[in-house]
Amino acid sequence: NGTHQPINRPETALPDHEGMVDERAQLEVSRLGECRIDSPLSAMLRRQRTTQHYVDEDDRVLLDDTVSLLAARGVPVEELPGFEPGGPRSKIYFDPSKTRVGIVTCGGLCPGLNDVIRALVLELTNHYGVRRIFGFRNGYQGMTARYGRPVVDLDPDAVAGINEYGGTILGTSRGNQDPDEIVDCLEQLSVNVLFVIGGDGSMRGALRIAEVVAERGLRIAVVGVPKTIDNDIPYIERSFGFQTAFGKATEAIRAAHVEATAFPNGIGLVQLMGRHSGFIACYAALANNDSDYVLIPEVPFALDGPGGFLEHLRQRVVERGHAMVVVAEGAGQEYLSAKGVDVSGNARLEDFGRYLRGRIAEHFAAARVEANLKYIDPSYTIRSVPADPYDSVYCIRLAHAAVHAAMAGRTEMVVGRWRGRFVHVPIALAISSRNLVDPDGDLWLSVLEATGQPPVFA
Ligand code: ATP
Ligand code: MG
Repeated sequence: NGTHQPINRPETALPDHEGMVDERAQLEVSRLGECRIDSPLSAMLRRQRTTQHYVDEDDRVLLDDTVSLLAARGVPVEELPGFEPGGPRSKIYFDPSKTRVGIVTCGGLCPGLNDVIRALVLELTNHYGVRRIFGFRNGYQGMTARYGRPVVDLDPDAVAGINEYGGTILGTSRGNQDPDEIVDCLEQLSVNVLFVIGGDGSMRGALRIAEVVAERGLRIAVVGVPKTIDNDIPYIERSFGFQTAFGKATEAIRAAHVEATAFPNGIGLVQLMGRHSGFIACYAALANNDSDYVLIPEVPFALDGPGGFLEHLRQRVVERGHAMVVVAEGAGQEYLSAKGVDVSGNARLEDFGRYLRGRIAEHFAAARVEANLKYIDPSYTIRSVPADPYDSVYCIRLAHAAVHAAMAGRTEMVVGRWRGRFVHVPIALAISSRNLVDPDGDLWLSVLEATGQPPVFA
């Protein structure tokens, strides 16, 4: 009846099998013998007061990850929670010949925005036969009459080649707009489907638009493609543009490291984006494996005192002649004074990198140790570039999933990616939490292993 058709066969499917017991045996990895020796990592992990980094030897990564695959093996699945899979449906909700679509990009720039816009337009036009697609200019401002921003007609010609460029051809903005006025605009243009490409704030806005749509009894699908350079939206595995951004950030680290190793007592200090989540800092630092310290918002640290960061840095520089430090902009905010909020209501953060530069200089001066510090903040240069090929592919696939979902009448959702599969995620869930680097997780452990920094500065 079609309900239990596998979404797509996973690449991990085992060759012919004769029942589950054999399959489990097929997956067991041979061991030379019992493990009896305490791991030397214990010293490091004990200092972090956690044992959660250790793998539970009885744990398993499940081979099957969809209800259909498990059901095919006879595993009872009725009670298991699961996301609705992304992908085309055999029956859709909207009649494409009568469907009018709107596309808007909001919030900060991120590599891949133009790839998403283009893929939405091409998929809607070429495969669904949708004939009217409007682009709204400068985020939600373009949907608010008072700003008088003309609506752009989007078709395959209008979006040809735009993926070669960073930014967004539609422009973007911050600042709250009235959802009632936005829905007025959708009604006037008889829009049936709105795609919002934006971050958490944009998705909060999209939810309010969907609420007004429901209050007015309209049938307008609101579907989001989550955008966040910081990789801080949950249920999306890795947000589009993130790989491009941290790849670009590695150039700053490489430069700072070259400087640091060339001068006596050289210190490279690079500040990267990451207001609440330190993913860019972690990934960029891991990518060239030259960083000695990574400071992120999720892991508090002491600057002063004998066990503090500054003294540790001084000792390292004296012993090794140089050091490379990567900080996320949102790290160490407790050392800085709050600066209010921006027009969208986001907390304005003070620049921790600059503050740290000053503190390092002071600390070395007080200890009468020479320091040659080079501070690099690549800031917006990492997010204004075009997407790399991997991100471009990802953008296209997210856009296709978004079109399939919207044409099948899904609303108040964003496309996500869970355990390597495209899924539909209710907006309310997607904005209910923030994706953070887990101080007890394996990413942070990799950072500790690669940098050699102590797990705790106290
Ligand atoms: P990023 O933070 O990744 O750059 P974002 O989408 O979170 O992207 P914001 O500037 O916070 O960026 O928000 C984008 C748009 O969404 C703005 O126009 C903002 O006013 C609107 N918005 C934010 N929060 C809400 C909300 N609670 N209700 C309605 N609209 C909102
Ligand atoms: Mg945001």
